[in-house]
Amino acid sequence: SHLQNKIALVTGAGSGIGRAVAFAYSQAGATVLVSDIDDAAGEETVSLIQRTDREAVFIRADAARAEDHNKLVRVALEHFGGLHIACNNAGIGGPSISTGEYSIDDWQKVINVNLNGVFYGCRYQIPAMLESGGGAIVNMASILGQVGFANSPAYVAAKHGVVGLTRTIALEYAAKGIRANSVGPAFINTPLLEHMDKETIRYLESKHAIGRLGTAEEVAELVLWLSSEKASFANGGYYPIDGGYLAQ
Ligand code: NAD
Repeated sequence: SHLQNKIALVTGAGSGIGRAVAFAYSQAGATVLVSDIDDAAGEETVSLIQRTDREAVFIRADAARAEDHNKLVRVALEHFGGLHIACNNAGIGGPSISTGEYSIDDWQKVINVNLNGVFYGCRYQIPAMLESGGGAIVNMASILGQVGFANSPAYVAAKHGVVGLTRTIALEYAAKGIRANSVGPAFINTPLLEHMDKETIRYLESKHAIGRLGTAEEVAELVLWLSSEKASFANGGYYPIDGGYLAQ
């Protein structure tokens, strides 16, 4: 249990990758603060963890609201005595529309959750980690933090932003005991892709050299490693986990 005595928080932990990360943290021995805007989904993640006799609590937090991140971090400090690990994972897809027609409202919604939400999280997590003797931040980017994708302008811009923000945090806090890295999953089989038809999924599969989509658990393995002391020399990196999507 290499995360024994660690307090970890995960945003968007009610589904998909966030749930798999929260579960992986718990199995490695951390106490996990599961947060989401969907109460039932978050509570389900907590019960999955508790069924294995590990410790987790659900705290409702909207990643697009700075004040909710503050509240989440306060719970970690005041009720659990510290914050050592944060995975800023909450994210939404947004509509599939080209830039010339993309609505201003949709742009703002996606940027608010996927980019502003990651900054708000880090903004409050960093002081808490400094107070707790150091820590590790893992921000959920995407392969679309590295390359473009037609008809997802806000998502692509937000994920590129997350990669740059994470590099900056790494430079600022490395000497103070906080590592920050971003993760770049390719297309992962989660409810985020639920709206896509079979033909689109088959097309996406073909873009991965490995010939299939990834699983949330495969992403969680990387996040777990980056969050742990085993990754003590990993800082400021962008780590693809993509079945070969970016290799071509
Ligand atoms: P998902 O839809 O399965 O889960 C996302 C979770 O985030 C849900 O429980 C949802 O309720 C929650 N959420 C949404 N908006 C929120 C908000 N404002 N505040 C708090 N919680 C909120 O999605 P997923 O596939 O697990 O995606 C998780 C992260 O991984 C996202 O940042 C996504 O961009 C990224 N990602 C996903 C894929 C993929 O193909 N699935 C690929 C690359 C990156």
